[in-house]
Amino acid sequence: MKYPLNRPMTGDGMWCRVCGCTQQNACPEGCGWVQEPSYTFEVMGPLCTACAGTPNDLAFIARLVAKLLEAKPLRAITRKRLGLILLAAARRGEERASKERQD
Ligand SMILES: [Zn+2]
Ligand SMILES: [Zn+2]
Repeated sequence: MKYPLNRPMTGDGMWCRVCGCTQQNACPEGCGWVQEPSYTFEVMGPLCTACAGTPNDLAFIARLVAKLLEAKPLRAITRKRLGLILLAAARRGEERASKERQD
């Protein structure tokens, strides 16, 4: 699997790291940007609310973590951020799952 899944619209600024949606080319169900810490944003780029907590969101993170873990030496700050990035992704997954249980 390659991310973003769709090619971002050219010249439309930021795109979702998972699906490739942009401001002018949003997801069919409508979406916005997920608020994330700046270091997450710097490493991975933005994430849209339609992708938050989906299997693709988590798969993207898993791939990134695998790639960063290969980079040696792994700095303490990187290890800490990886932990926080994983934790945030787990929360997004749980949030989506609990929302789906309510529907
Ligand atoms: Zn998206
Ligand atoms: Zn989107």
